[in-house]
Amino acid sequence: MIEVEHLSAGYSATRHALDGVSFRVERGEVVGLLGANGAGKTTLLRILAGLLHPRAGRAQVAGFDVVTQARAARHALGYVPEEPVLDAEFRVGEFLELRAALKGVPAAECRPRVEEVSDRLGLLDQQRRLIAELSKGYRQRVGLADALLAQPPVLLLDEPTDGLDPVQRTQTLRLIADLARRHTVLLSTHILPEAESVCQRVLILDRGRLVAEGAPACLLPTSPSASPLLLHCQGPIAEICEVVRQVEGVSAVRLLTPALHVASACADDAFASDVEAMLQIDLADACDRQAADRIARAVLPMGRLLSLAPQPRSLAALFPQQTHPPESSRNS
Ligand code: ATP
Repeated sequence: MIEVEHLSAGYSATRHALDGVSFRVERGEVVGLLGANGAGKTTLLRILAGLLHPRAGRAQVAGFDVVTQARAARHALGYVPEEPVLDAEFRVGEFLELRAALKGVPAAECRPRVEEVSDRLGLLDQQRRLIAELSKGYRQRVGLADALLAQPPVLLLDEPTDGLDPVQRTQTLRLIADLARRHTVLLSTHILPEAESVCQRVLILDRGRLVAEGAPACLLPTSPSASPLLLHCQGPIAEICEVVRQVEGVSAVRLLTPALHVASACADDAFASDVEAMLQIDLADACDRQAADRIARAVLPMGRLLSLAPQPRSLAALFPQQTHPPESSRNS
């Protein structure tokens, strides 16, 4: 349903936003497009949606070339950008009806189509609400409803859970899983567990290049305890690093944040002159469940232990060898 061959694109003559990317998405697949900020995810989706021309290579949606058969390709897909473009002064129902008409849905079918899509997305009770008054989660749903109105076989979703609270995130992921029963879905995200929960396959972009591809289970460590530990503490950081390094089972300790000087309001505070920092602790045996206890016991006499937990499974944490932040943030 999606075929991309040697696709390159850029916004300036000197820099590639995409550099020779090739992949296929088969009918009925849900594929995650993963990458750090600036990796090229949005650029790729915008090319597929016909909003940006590639510099080289080609892309097809449902067998139609996105440049030379743009209209047919556009008709075969629903694109939900990161910030869906909605007319704030409309009510949800009237906005969707207008959009259905603009997409060529026959007049008599517009209202039933809006109702069907709204029902699927939990928007039936929001029809009379002004779009301007909707929460971000509901605006996302209206954007998704808009994309579904013409019943396209392919859906492109750009960071569909970005900026949502945890409840809305879970609801949106459930919706996507449900959509997958009728559509081929390509969704971009930088949150691995989300991709893992809904995608059969993920593509990993790094600075415009495809650096890995496969089933999440093959690419990701499956045990949550395989993550390094994150220690947030306050005290004499250099000494704490040294002591933690000596703890049995610890293989490496890295200072993640620059140590921050903390001014304590309390004059007789034992740690008043100390600093606060975040350390990443790698364990020799990822399944060593006692290691956190030993680390806590070592740190407590030296300073304040603000938190100690497995590192969230972020893209940057799990694929340091495959993904890097964009140039600008690396230099800053
Ligand atoms: P994010 O997760 O932050 O949305 P992304 O993976 O979607 O990032 P893109 O938005 O596709 O990445 O950006 C890829 C590269 O192209 C980046 O280096 C970015 O700075 C650059 N870029 C994106 N849009 C523009 C633009 N309109 N003008 C100039 N450069 C741009």
